[in-house]
Amino acid sequence: MQWGLIGASTIAAEYVIAAIRAQSGNSVNAVLSSSRARADAYAAAHDIPNADTDLSALLARPKIDAVYISTTNEKHRDQALAAIAAGKHVLCEKPLAMSVADARTMVEAARAAGLVFATNHHLRCAGAHRAAKALIAAGRIGKVLSMRVFHAVMLPEHLRGWRIDNPAAGGGVIPDITVHDADTVRFYLDEDPQRVVAQAVSSGLGQGVEDSVMSVWTMPSGIMVQSHESFTHPFAGSGLEVHGSKGSIFARNVMSQRPTGTVTLVTEAGETDVPYESEGLYEYAIAAFNRAVAGEDRPAADGVDGVKSLAIAMAVRQSALEGRAIDVNYEGY
Ligand code: NDP
Repeated sequence: MQWGLIGASTIAAEYVIAAIRAQSGNSVNAVLSSSRARADAYAAAHDIPNADTDLSALLARPKIDAVYISTTNEKHRDQALAAIAAGKHVLCEKPLAMSVADARTMVEAARAAGLVFATNHHLRCAGAHRAAKALIAAGRIGKVLSMRVFHAVMLPEHLRGWRIDNPAAGGGVIPDITVHDADTVRFYLDEDPQRVVAQAVSSGLGQGVEDSVMSVWTMPSGIMVQSHESFTHPFAGSGLEVHGSKGSIFARNVMSQRPTGTVTLVTEAGETDVPYESEGLYEYAIAAFNRAVAGEDRPAADGVDGVKSLAIAMAVRQSALEGRAIDVNYEGY
């Protein structure tokens, strides 16, 4: 499979180009940037044969089977719709779009065209999360009662651009990190939050967007969920806890782009370190995408997963803005 990169981004440079190249038969054919100089420099730096500044030129390249969209968030919708119209499979970054309705439009367009559409929610691809979820499925903690997610980090300096000062590009910690936590909670619990209550603040980095948020989610089963995301916490560490009637899971430093952290199961029998697979998260996602294109599997996170994580994040933001509980609107999904 040959890929076109839509966006000369940091995430592609740091993780996704290598993850594509790690799959047998996969290569990067072209990169798109809005700037000729950046397109050429990026292509040279990453050994990509073609550099485009016009989306239709990249999409007209017949060898390209799939695109990876990692521009700023406000561009995802139109770029995805153009790629789908050109017959390309799509792996799109989160948040899929600036509104849930737009995200749904993208997913439905791919479905109508018979193309694979995936959302790059990397956390569910981590061995640590898959191992923890398997403990729940195996009944090791009994009936799940509650889940707490800790994802308050210090935003690295090189990422302190549009994320902290540009609402029109999709800045703010809610579209950036709450979407990932929403996907992770859905992955663990196999159910969708119905209602959220949230408070958000700017605590040092956000200018015109929130940089910290705490929220509590109502789940259909009655499981209680609490989530915390921030760009301003240098030493908080990340993780999640799942508490059940017969045991608890403590996963530490697992809200990461790398296969790091520990998973500990605590039951009446004592504490056990849980082993997990250390495959790269993005490699896992691209491998699943390849299988999906071959008709053998579903993507690690599909388009509906991306719509739902965005719907939860949008409800969190609306709740924080309006100071009241908000029902999550999944636009019919
Ligand atoms: P970047 O800021 O690195 O890239 C986004 C866009 O900014 C690029 O498409 C590029 O535009 C432009 N840009 C990049 N560098 C420069 C520069 N030096 N000067 C001017 N413009 C520049 O964003 P990220 O890689 O951090 O994020 C991109 C997307 O990926 C977002 O949607 C984000 O939410 C998502 N993301 C997902 C992650 C995950 O693990 N799933 C992790 C990190 C990000 P152009 O293409 O026109 O050159």
